[in-house]
Amino acid sequence: MRQLNPSPYIGRFAPSPTGPLHFGSLVSALASYLDAHHHNGKWLVRMEDLDPPREQAGAADAILRCLEAYGLEWDDSVVYQSQRWDLYEKYLSRLRKQDLLYPCDCTRQDLQTMGGIYNGRCRHRQINTTQAHAQRLKLYDLPTGFNLGEELRFTDLIQGEQIQNLRTQAGDQILKRKDGLYAYQLAVVVDDIEQGITHIIRGSDLLEVTARQIFLFQLLGAPVPTFGHVTLASQPNGQKLSKQNLAPALRFEDAATNLWHALIFLGQKPPQELLEYSPSEILMWAKDHWTLKNIKGLSAVYTPLI
Ligand code: GLU
Repeated sequence: MRQLNPSPYIGRFAPSPTGPLHFGSLVSALASYLDAHHHNGKWLVRMEDLDPPREQAGAADAILRCLEAYGLEWDDSVVYQSQRWDLYEKYLSRLRKQDLLYPCDCTRQDLQTMGGIYNGRCRHRQINTTQAHAQRLKLYDLPTGFNLGEELRFTDLIQGEQIQNLRTQAGDQILKRKDGLYAYQLAVVVDDIEQGITHIIRGSDLLEVTARQIFLFQLLGAPVPTFGHVTLASQPNGQKLSKQNLAPALRFEDAATNLWHALIFLGQKPPQELLEYSPSEILMWAKDHWTLKNIKGLSAVYTPLI
């Protein structure tokens, strides 16, 4: 059992089980693991299995086995979002009571005609709630008592100062979908609150949705974690390396090599001889030498090793 000091650091890796881990997900997992361990904190794993139509059978287990093979051991038990619907409902009803939610029956096409940013149309419409509808969260023009402006600023540990206008750059957010599933934007914040997460180190593809998540923390009166968005591994055509575009699964037998390359990708300058070591020895070196200041840029091309 690892001795934890009283440092309040709690970090997490929160994969969606839509496929096996690939190099891009290794970069995020490794960065959050190393930042937590460097600060003698806890590192939790949360399975974001919230969207069955997008999931792949067996992927959740494959992800956990892969983390183990790479020496990325987590603290506490893995939390599965599919088992926490009561919790999400509880938070939704709290927001509903505060008049922060409203029903919406707009379609994807409606959203497209609005230019992709929801313009609050259903705030002013009578919705037939006996038919399928989504639940949207107000991000601006809030009920009296909420003194939160439209402009949200935060400092990202890696990407620096960020500013987003919630009305023009985010728009009211769906928290429960028309098909009855809870939205990622709700579940991720509820779980980060419930698990006491203090630091969120993740891929820069999520930088854009961070302001709306911070806003939800604030609406719920919860402490806002510190965020850091690491460089995203992309393909030469600029596309994100992802399960959707079939990034190759990480092979267990390449753990040491892939960890070493992920450290290079994260600007950590591991010595060449570290390649000869085991995953846990590589992680030991990396934890001691970890620095966020060498991580540069939103995205960088990664060419998979053959
Ligand atoms: N489950 C999300 C994903 O795999 C990540 C959520 C997060 O780190 O906040 O993209």
